[in-house]
Amino acid sequence: MEKVRLGKTGLMVSRVGFGGIPIQRLSKAEAASVVKGVIDLGVNFLDTANAYSDSEEKIGEAIKDIKRENLVIASKSTAPDKKTFMEHLDLCLKRLGTDYVDLYQIHNVSTIEKRDVVFAPGGAYEGLAEAIKMGKVRFPAFSSHNIPLAIDIMKTGKFFVVQLPFNFVDNTAAKEAIPLAKELDMGFIGMKPFGGGLLHNAPVAIRYVLQFENVVPDPGIEKLSEMREIVSIVNEKKPFSSEDKKIIDDLIKELGDRWCHRCDYCQPCPQGIGISSVLTVESLLKRMPFRQVFNMANAGMEKADACLECGDCMKRCPYKLKIPALLKSKIALWKKVVAENAG
Ligand code: SF4
Ligand code: SF4
Repeated sequence: MEKVRLGKTGLMVSRVGFGGIPIQRLSKAEAASVVKGVIDLGVNFLDTANAYSDSEEKIGEAIKDIKRENLVIASKSTAPDKKTFMEHLDLCLKRLGTDYVDLYQIHNVSTIEKRDVVFAPGGAYEGLAEAIKMGKVRFPAFSSHNIPLAIDIMKTGKFFVVQLPFNFVDNTAAKEAIPLAKELDMGFIGMKPFGGGLLHNAPVAIRYVLQFENVVPDPGIEKLSEMREIVSIVNEKKPFSSEDKKIIDDLIKELGDRWCHRCDYCQPCPQGIGISSVLTVESLLKRMPFRQVFNMANAGMEKADACLECGDCMKRCPYKLKIPALLKSKIALWKKVVAENAG
C-alpha cells in the first residue's frame, strides 16, 4: 500500500492505519490473526491505547516476530497527571513488547479543565516530554473530540501529531483543523472514518477522507475482510466523485436529525446527564465487548432516565437534535441489549 509522510515526524505510514479498539472483542488468537493479516496487507501503522483494555497486549502478541522498525506504533494514555501517564507508558511498552512507541498521545483532551491539568506542573505533558528524552517515545501527540480546543492546542506547537474525529458526517475538522495541520506540518490521524461503526458505505467513507492528502484514517477493525475491503478501495485510487457527494448528502439528510457530534455544546444538563455519551452508546456497542461497555456506560444510561424534558439542551445544540426523544430511544435500546446479555 502507498505510504505517506506523517507530518514533521517524517514517519512514512500506510495511507490507512489500523485502529485497535474492536480487537478487544476477539480472543487472543483471533486478534493476533487479524493484526498479522492487516500487516500482511501492507498496513504498517497501528494505533491503540491504554484505555482499550487488552488491545495493547493483543497487538504485542501479534507483532512479536515482526521487525520493530517495519512498524509505526501509536498508543495513548488518558491520565492527566505525569505519574499515572508514565505508569501507563511503561505498561504500554511492556504489553507491546517494545522499547519505544513512535507516537504517544495524551488521550482525549476534550475539556478546558483537562487541558489545564495536562499542561500544569506535574501534568501529563511533562511526562511526555520526559519520555521523549528517555527514548521511550519518539514524537508527542494528542487526541481530542473538541475541535476548537484542539485547534488552540495545535497552535501551541507542542505536538507533532493530532488525532481528531473525521468522517463525512463529523466533518468539522475539514474547515480549520486539517488545513492548520498542513500549515504546521503536523501529522493528522482521522479518528472514526466510519463514524464509530455507524457509517456503512465503506467506499464512499474512505474516498471522502482520502481527498484530504494529509489525513491518515485509522479505522477500527475487527475482521480481516473489513481491512481487505478498505485496502482495495485505497489501492483503487478512485477519486471522490460527484456521485459520492450525492450519496453523502442523502445520508447526512437521513442521519442529520439524530447524529450526535459529541461536541457537548448542549451541556450543562441540570440533571447531570452525559447527553453525548448516551446518544453515542450504540457506537461503543458496535466496537467493544458488552461487559466493558456496561461497566463504562450503565450508570450514565440509568441517569438518563431522569431527563425532565426541560429542553435547555436542545436550545444549545447547533444540530437541533431532539435530545429528550433521542435519549428515550437510546435508553430503550440499552435496556434491550442489557436484557439480551443478562445471565
Ligand atoms: S431536556 Fe433532559 S437532557 Fe436536556 S437539559 Fe433538560 S433534563 Fe437535561
Ligand atoms: S446533542 Fe447536540 S450539542 Fe450535544 S453533543 Fe450531541 S451534537 Fe453536540
